[in-house]
Amino acid sequence: MQLQLPSPIQELHSPLLRKAKVRLSVKRDDQIHPWLGGNKWRKLKYNLQAAKQQEHTSLLTFGGAYSNHLYATAGAGDLFGFRSIGIIRGEEYLPLNPTLAFCRERGMQLHYMNRSDYREKTSEAIIQQLKEQFGEFYLIPEGGSNALAVQGVAEAVDEISVPEYDYLAVACGSGGTLAGLATGLNRRQQLLGFPVLKGGSFLKNEADALSMAHNGKRYQNVQLFTGYHQGGYAKTTAELLSFIRDFYQQHHILLDPIYTGKLFFGLFDLIGKGHFKAGTHILAFHTGGQQGIAGWEERTGQTLI
Ligand SMILES: *Cc1c(COP(=O)(O)O)cnc(C)c1O
Repeated sequence: MQLQLPSPIQELHSPLLRKAKVRLSVKRDDQIHPWLGGNKWRKLKYNLQAAKQQEHTSLLTFGGAYSNHLYATAGAGDLFGFRSIGIIRGEEYLPLNPTLAFCRERGMQLHYMNRSDYREKTSEAIIQQLKEQFGEFYLIPEGGSNALAVQGVAEAVDEISVPEYDYLAVACGSGGTLAGLATGLNRRQQLLGFPVLKGGSFLKNEADALSMAHNGKRYQNVQLFTGYHQGGYAKTTAELLSFIRDFYQQHHILLDPIYTGKLFFGLFDLIGKGHFKAGTHILAFHTGGQQGIAGWEERTGQTLI
């Protein structure tokens, strides 16, 4: 199995960027491997190593029915020889949506959990119940964010010549990726986070807690732009969708409406408003997520591209 690492970096060119005299490059983590997502692979890497070291043969994790993390965990389980168990929020719908159909093809055992138990999924009682049902397993949290995930994401920063960039930019869900990228910054640089859910300012604390767990440090030069969630998690606007279509036409890079679409929409909005001074070079992380597009189209009855 071939992983494309370090992931490639691609510079974008457009009239808007020329006019603003801003350079924008994209770290194509989405190209690491078709089964492993982008940042989700980085978050899994050291967890898989720990699981092997602890002689676990099974991985168990949690997610919604369209989760990029479940998808990547199923892919990684298959590629690296683990049994995988996916605990899915809510009840079963048949036929399986494209995300869960992939998970099942990769050998993941799918188990549905009602929403009230799901809220308690980290409790002793629920974990015990899962152990009785499935035997011993290595537990990966929902979204894959823990201290080992931060260590894996930090490697993305090792792959780039950091002084070249004034800003790194990334879409945020749980804050694990933000924390990992923050560990690689120098003092002059800023990390820009674009929360994809409403009320995303809590993410600074989440990222701090994760980076503290990883290396005992907290980072100052992180800035969150909380106004680009488009109504909330997995919510979209016509403006966002038309941005994603134009972006694909211009740059031949596919963005998803849940995460990376909101990141680039926000970045281009800021660039257009003159937020960055001339000569600025930004590196935006394409964290993957394209697997979710088929499910999004099915759910909404819309076509993205
Ligand atoms: C999960 C995910 C993110 C957010 O990562 P967090 O570490 O949860 O903040 C960003 N982009 C994509 C495509 C994702 O799947």
